[in-house]
Amino acid sequence: MNSDVVFIGLGNMGLPMALNLVRAGMRVSGHDLVPTSVEKFIAGGGNNNPDLVSAIKVAKTIITMLPASRHVESAYFGDNGILAQAKPGTLLIDCSTIAPDSARKVAAAASEKGFTMVDAPVSGGTGGAVAGTLTFMVGGSEDGFNVAKPMFEIMGKAIFHAGESGAGQTVKMCNNMLLGILMIGTSEAIRLGMANGMDPNVLSEVMSKSSGRNWALEVYNPCPGVMENAPASKEYSGGFGVDLMLKDLGLATENALSTSSSIPLGSLARNLYDIHSKSGAGGLDFSSIFNMFAKAQ
Ligand code: NAD
Repeated sequence: MNSDVVFIGLGNMGLPMALNLVRAGMRVSGHDLVPTSVEKFIAGGGNNNPDLVSAIKVAKTIITMLPASRHVESAYFGDNGILAQAKPGTLLIDCSTIAPDSARKVAAAASEKGFTMVDAPVSGGTGGAVAGTLTFMVGGSEDGFNVAKPMFEIMGKAIFHAGESGAGQTVKMCNNMLLGILMIGTSEAIRLGMANGMDPNVLSEVMSKSSGRNWALEVYNPCPGVMENAPASKEYSGGFGVDLMLKDLGLATENALSTSSSIPLGSLARNLYDIHSKSGAGGLDFSSIFNMFAKAQ
């Protein structure tokens, strides 16, 4: 089957994003190393060409939504990689969150082969991926941005051209460092209130209308039971993994070293998520950092 889109990486984000393309009438071949993810995609109306290389050869657009830089580079480079196998004119979009340098390296190699490529990391969580309301932060040429924009309009609501290749990843890195810090601060504040006998629902509602308001508090509350649909109320399952947040804070830390930037809170946040991950929480949603501040029983 000739697909309009080959979508590689059907995880917490990629699966609902790819399904939104299917619902919009696109022919999408979905791919993942985990067979159950592919099965979910097919159950939702998607297709899967079991031979990824032949799917890549005929695709008009290829979208990757993979964990980290190394996964993206291995998907693009090598004899069976996207750059070696895609036909001329294929639009290449990487939505993963990776290092800006890695995004520029892949985009430069793509450009050498005549492909249009954009880095297009997203924000908005799994809820935004399901609802098709993600924010896209796009790096690449103006032409590349304009060609890819209709895809982003299906999967998202706010679409920004941040600048040249890698600029989308730079914005995403700054955003996620701030998010990681805010989630820790929000957790501390709720725990402090609870230690004083406050109902976390009341506390969250009042702070959401006060100067401490932020996304972690208002949309993704880390305290179980405050928000029915937040990962905290589902035993911190799904959502955005602790290890993915740790990866993003690692990108910020490396970048700060190479740009001589001071990120004292970003560094502290990276260390706290690292300790949390090593306690066995790496696979839980990142809002589970709330558990780190529990009172001893
Ligand atoms: P995830 O771990 O749930 O999904 C990644 C998927 O990629 C997995 O299903 C994995 O099996 C698959 N994969 C890995 N290597 C592969 C390969 N070579 N070929 C095919 N599939 C492969 O991660 P996620 O939460 O969906 O996040 C994906 C990216 O989006 C990450 O870079 C993350 O930082 C970023 N992100 C996540 C969120 C979120 O809320 N989860 C929000 C914004 C951005």
